[in-house]
Amino acid sequence: MVIEDILLLGNPQLLARSEPVERDELAAAVAAGGDLADTMAGFRKQHGWGRAISAPQIGVSKRIIFLNVDEPWLVINPEVSDASEEMMEIWDDCMSFPDLLVKVRRHVSFTMTWRDENWQTQRRRIDGLFSELLQHEIDHLDGILAVSRAIDGESFALQSERDKIPGAVFANNPA
Ligand SMILES: [Zn+2]
Repeated sequence: MVIEDILLLGNPQLLARSEPVERDELAAAVAAGGDLADTMAGFRKQHGWGRAISAPQIGVSKRIIFLNVDEPWLVINPEVSDASEEMMEIWDDCMSFPDLLVKVRRHVSFTMTWRDENWQTQRRRIDGLFSELLQHEIDHLDGILAVSRAIDGESFALQSERDKIPGAVFANNPA
C-alpha cells in the first residue's frame, strides 16, 4: 500500500505536461498504477467519492490514468480522436481541489487509443460516464485543470452549496 499525497490546486506541478510512457518503462507505469489505486482508495475513504486519478496528481509526470468505476482500469498514453461536435455541460470535481465544483463543457463522446498493462494497443469509443471522467484525466496529463475550463465567472461553487445550484448536472454524486 502506497498512499501518496495528492497535489493540490496551486501546485505548479499540476500545470506541467506529462511525458509519454516508453516501452521499457511499462513495469514502472504499472507500479505507479498501483500507487494511484491505493491513493484513490485512501481519498475515497476520507471523502466518499473519487473514481479516477492521473499520475501527475501524485507527482509522477507520466501519461498514466487509473480509473475504478466497476473495475480497475489502467490507461497508458491515451490519445483522443473523433471527438463529438455535441457537447455537454456538467459540474465537475477534482481530487486536487476537493471542496470545489466547476461547470465545464465536455464532448459527449470520443475515440480513445491507449496502451494497456500488457503494452497492447486498445481502441474504444468512449461515451456516457467515462467520457467526462477520461476527458478530465487526459486534461491532467496536459497540465489542464477543470478550473481552466470553467465556462464563465459563475461556473464555480463550493461542494457544500451543491444543492443550491438550480438544474445542475454533476459529474459525480457522492454516495
Ligand atoms: Zn482532477
